[in-house]
Amino acid sequence: MNNSGKAEVLIPRTLCSIEDFNNLNTDIEGLCSVSITWDNGFVTELKPLKNKNERPKNLLFPRFVETHSHIDKSFTWEAFPNLASNYGDALSVNLKEHKTRTTDKVIERVEKSLSIAIKNGYRAIRSHIDTYQSQGIDIWIELFKLQKKLSSELILQLVALAPLKFWDSSNGEELARLLSSHGGILGGVVVPPFNKKETTKFLSKMLILADKYKLEIDLHIDESIIKPGAGIKVLLETMDKFQISVPVTCSHLSSLMFLKDREIIYFGKKMADKNIKVIALPLTNFWLLNRNCKTNSLKRPVAPIKQLQKSFVDVSIGSDNVQDPWYPFGNFDPFYMMSCAIPMLQLNPWERMTLSSLFLAPSRLLNLSWDGLVKKGCPADFVILDGQRWADVFASSLKRKVFIKGVLYR
Ligand SMILES: [Zn+2]
Repeated sequence: MNNSGKAEVLIPRTLCSIEDFNNLNTDIEGLCSVSITWDNGFVTELKPLKNKNERPKNLLFPRFVETHSHIDKSFTWEAFPNLASNYGDALSVNLKEHKTRTTDKVIERVEKSLSIAIKNGYRAIRSHIDTYQSQGIDIWIELFKLQKKLSSELILQLVALAPLKFWDSSNGEELARLLSSHGGILGGVVVPPFNKKETTKFLSKMLILADKYKLEIDLHIDESIIKPGAGIKVLLETMDKFQISVPVTCSHLSSLMFLKDREIIYFGKKMADKNIKVIALPLTNFWLLNRNCKTNSLKRPVAPIKQLQKSFVDVSIGSDNVQDPWYPFGNFDPFYMMSCAIPMLQLNPWERMTLSSLFLAPSRLLNLSWDGLVKKGCPADFVILDGQRWADVFASSLKRKVFIKGVLYR
């Protein structure tokens, strides 16, 4: 097993830290030419290429981090299609799928998803797992076994996605205890229309439970076109009342887009104060939300990434569902996600904040030991592409090699 090597590559300037930066040749797209050497699975040398006229024929990225997925239901589209492609139908088809669910079926989907994800270049994945009262604990035992089995190739973080009131039940408390010994996370849904009093009550219970077992919370929140920001308002009010500092992630937050700019900045500042992190999920939001057959409007809600970043909120971009009732496409491929998200969100790939939301913020969100910055001493965990410019990264003919701890993955 050869875990040492050397390559001449282009790396986005903001994704590498290099001592000899004065001699670095960086092009107008922010790609710099470097020579990289790794020994025993770690980068031992990173330096500018001496010959400034020679442009490397490969591009290097750190292996990717997926912040939001649903590996328990991926590839169920064929058996459970949602041809109307809207949120309401996705939910009802999802519930039909629950009725046929067995631990074996879920584990089969999870194994398939993760094996594709590793091959495509992911090093870590946070996934939500549908959780409900009638479900036994055995599914979690199998998931944690798999998490351990794959740990040398992929870090898997699991969120129990349950109705909020589940966390106020004895089953909820039992699961919270189990999650606390496996780095698990409490999940839930806060999407209008909802009863404010009840939502406040259950969010409070959830915060107290998370605090008790030292767990994080990741909510599907404001994935909606009605009552913009209603969910985040209730969450902020509840957190203010309890003064509990539990790490909270807001997934989606898409209806915030319909607020006035000054309101977005106002909520952004409040979220930054509480260190609430955000995951924008443009693919499913654009696909499912605001499908008005009468007007055929193309107004699409998605978390207002740039305004939130301006308010110092750490924003990541995730993929969400793969080939299930919520989204019929995708294949756990970070380049598919970037090819869709970058043009649809008008994010320039040569800008620092864009690459932060795709590489560095996700590493921070999952609390990974490596921040994703390529530098001397970092793991030799790369995806190396045939290509010389951003257009090649988003071409369908993409050819890639994945290195895990310096070893070429086959
Ligand atoms: Zn989701």
